[in-house]
Amino acid sequence: MEKPTILVVEDEPAIADTIQYALESEGFRCLRLETGAGVVEVLDSQPVALVVLDIGLPDVSGVEVCRRIRQRHDVPVIFLTARSGEVDRVVGLELGADDYVTKPFSPRELAARAKAVLRRARSGNGAPQPQPGTAFKLDEERRQITYFGKPLELSRYEYKLLAVLLKRPGRVYSRDELLELVWDAPEASLDRTVDAHVKNIRAKLRDIRHDADPIATHRGMGYSLKEGL
Ligand code: CA
Repeated sequence: MEKPTILVVEDEPAIADTIQYALESEGFRCLRLETGAGVVEVLDSQPVALVVLDIGLPDVSGVEVCRRIRQRHDVPVIFLTARSGEVDRVVGLELGADDYVTKPFSPRELAARAKAVLRRARSGNGAPQPQPGTAFKLDEERRQITYFGKPLELSRYEYKLLAVLLKRPGRVYSRDELLELVWDAPEASLDRTVDAHVKNIRAKLRDIRHDADPIATHRGMGYSLKEGL
């Protein structure tokens, strides 16, 4: 089978080198661009499975590049964003990216994200927001989550945390991201706050189905909801 091609658009050569190395070790072929100008031309000229797109490019912003890509191509996009918040994490996804990785990131994390996005793109119709399967039902108006037909009794943060995971099955969230997305004062919370809440949620899920463990732990990275549940 031919190696899937990933286009990496990143103006900092050291970061691009790291990304290329990580992706090539996972069996991908890498193309590189340092500016946003040529991206659409590359996509027009050859099959590309995924674009890894820096938001802070020297010529046009990654957001604008993503908009241009979306006008002509269905290819999944992962944004690279700076911790200082070049783009709000959730907004990044609304702008048409399939995922985002915040700098500094580990190459291993990016490679895992790339594989998950490609898996989702292959399995579905390429829809950026896969729906959770039948095991869970999320009722946001009532702030209620049902698991195998049984309503879960969750604390406020347990509910919010599980709801985040449910909305993007397969997406790996780091503890930092979960703190930021779920907690009101993330800076006052600790990584182990997330672990403790996941532990509680798992116990409640086990009470309903002791043999199923729908939340996956990714060592050194974080948590995701398993796909296809
Ligand atoms: Ca940059």
